[in-house]
Amino acid sequence: MLASYAAHPEQSIGRKFNEPAAPLINGAPIRNLFQRDRDRIIHSTAFRRLEYKTQVFVNHEGDLFRTRLTHSLEVAQLARGIARTLHLHEDLTEGIALAHDLGHTPFGHAGQDALNACMRAHGGFEHNLQSLRVVDMLENRYAEFDGLNLTFELREGILKHCSIKNARLLGDVGERFIKKQSPSLEAQVTNFADEIAYNNHDVDDGLRSQLITIEQLKEIELFAENMAVVKSQYPNIELKRLIPETIRRMINQLVIDLCETTLENIQQLKPQTIEDIRHAPYLVAFSEATAKKNQALKQFLRKNLYHHYKVNRMSAKAERIIQELFHAFMQNVELMPDEHQAAAKADQPRAVADYIAGMTDRFAIREHRRLFAVEEYF
Ligand code: MG
Repeated sequence: MLASYAAHPEQSIGRKFNEPAAPLINGAPIRNLFQRDRDRIIHSTAFRRLEYKTQVFVNHEGDLFRTRLTHSLEVAQLARGIARTLHLHEDLTEGIALAHDLGHTPFGHAGQDALNACMRAHGGFEHNLQSLRVVDMLENRYAEFDGLNLTFELREGILKHCSIKNARLLGDVGERFIKKQSPSLEAQVTNFADEIAYNNHDVDDGLRSQLITIEQLKEIELFAENMAVVKSQYPNIELKRLIPETIRRMINQLVIDLCETTLENIQQLKPQTIEDIRHAPYLVAFSEATAKKNQALKQFLRKNLYHHYKVNRMSAKAERIIQELFHAFMQNVELMPDEHQAAAKADQPRAVADYIAGMTDRFAIREHRRLFAVEEYF
């Protein structure tokens, strides 16, 4: 069922370090290359830490909000469904989805912005590049190499965007940014699945936290039209069910539009191989009308949720924690655990950034307390 222009594991550009092929059962490898990639991601320490890292709400604010782990699972679920419809490689799509946020700092975007500001004079910090750094270098689980030694296709999928300056430092996966080429359709699909997932779950979490209201959301076409459908079908529906019924219709609408528009683009261009995909413009897309509705929802969330004063207050605290940790470790490298001190010998700012980026929300809060509260011992 795999399309000729999908990523085929047997045609993979491969891994940096050669490894023995998977054992055969009845003449077929027990797992294809992309399944092995996905499995390595699931077993990594960075993946487990996603449970205690947040998107919008800080981990301790409530047990029902999305974390980076549940977000990544939602992205994987959406991306796999879309990949199957488009006859793309599901395992690769799933792997990219599960890995796409591995490089995120604690405290969501506030954390990343603060760390980027601290790193300004030292090459900056970008979560997307950090995700690649985690799978290429920072995971130490194998005897023969650093990182997870993932396939080119998985790594290409992680690197969603990248400046030309950084692309030059990245070798193979950086090339497409210099040559202005596209990634696989599996990578393109995962980007959209990410966006569909977070816009919709942020509506859900935003309503649950009461930082945004249904009244406000009535102004947003995508929400309003789907809520109207639910209400006409179920006039007496209780609020608790109205919200998820509306959100699942929003997600459906976006996914169906994405699949239809992408199939049209594929039919027009008639790509034969993944190389055709790499040389074509991005083919995964929403229709113009849906892109507009999706954009309106994004803008709404940016204004009303991500910049709600209560979120700003938490973001300001998060920024302060990241800055103070960074400066403490820069001033005195001996405050870091031994393995991070060793890494600091080559490049102290980068080692500090790696240590901080790897922290969960609660670990960063505890580490800050250990360093700055006199009544804490270590
Ligand atoms: Mg994401």
